Amino acid sequence: MVEGNVIKGKAIAESIVSSLLNRFDALMQELGRPVVLLGIESGINPDSRAYIRSQQSLAARLGIEYRHRQVGPYQKDLEDAVQMAVRDPSVDGIILHTPFPEGVDVFNALRLLPQEKDVEGVSPGNVFGMFFHQEGTIFPPTARAVLRILDELGVNIKGARVVIVGEGAVVGRPLAIMFLQRGATVSVCHLPTSERGDLLRYVSQAEILVSAVGKAGLIKGEWIKEGTVVVDVGINFVGNRMVGDVEFDTAKDKAKLITPVPGGVGPVTTAILMENLYLLVKERLNVRGR
Ligand code: NAP
Repeated sequence: MVEGNVIKGKAIAESIVSSLLNRFDALMQELGRPVVLLGIESGINPDSRAYIRSQQSLAARLGIEYRHRQVGPYQKDLEDAVQMAVRDPSVDGIILHTPFPEGVDVFNALRLLPQEKDVEGVSPGNVFGMFFHQEGTIFPPTARAVLRILDELGVNIKGARVVIVGEGAVVGRPLAIMFLQRGATVSVCHLPTSERGDLLRYVSQAEILVSAVGKAGLIKGEWIKEGTVVVDVGINFVGNRMVGDVEFDTAKDKAKLITPVPGGVGPVTTAILMENLYLLVKERLNVRGR
């Protein structure tokens, strides 16, 4: 799972996938058909391609039927597609691929998503469940992936000084709540923190640092305290090269453990997405049967 101090996201993802293979097999026998995951894309967004491809190939490995629905870049098209998928009894889980085109209101579309089909933890029911720590809540996969990586490597979370950079709705913000739930002391930095010139001060105090911003080189390696565990969620392109938010080469010399980009959080996120789908369908079968 670790080479030197570099965390191997692919190995962690692989261990999640191996445990899911049998579980999905049994679930589909109980269901009497393949589990169906539907991804809805509004407009065409080249940035989503790699993520969609990795979901498709993992779904195929697990025997999940992955459907992709491309709709026009308009609110009504998206909402109609969501409503149709919600009504379709053959669809077990729904993903709304982001980012949305200009003028499409993501929140109005998410409001239509019932908790029973929400694999990304973004529906009103799951957000409520996360906020009030309800049993059976599905959490956003990237935020869960960060915690899974730390748990796999035995990193202590309770009482740890955690600094999260970025408070986006699908990574930083849910992660802050999840870390609090696990007993960490959490600081959340965002753009105003940088604008005030305070980012270095917060980053340098972290025992666990998570960056989820989307700005290459935002976090300087020299800011990081010796022995920090660094989880870089950011995805950025410098030319054709994919990099994170953290200056990897310099940060690596200071960090106790560090995730690379690519090959860190990304593969674990896709595996956790499928685990969410498993949990969702299993819960539905337990409560309502087929
Ligand atoms: P987002 O919703 O746009 O949030 C970005 C956050 O970064 C905001 O809170 C913003 O602050 C903050 N920010 C922007 N500039 C900053 C600066 N100079 N200093 C400090 N904070 C700054 O983005 P997201 O959806 O959370 O995604 C964040 C990154 O994670 C992206 O690179 C995305 O591609 C990546 N990602 C990776 C995975 C994966 O599986 N590896 C999954 C999802 C996302 P304000 O709140 O003040 O605007």
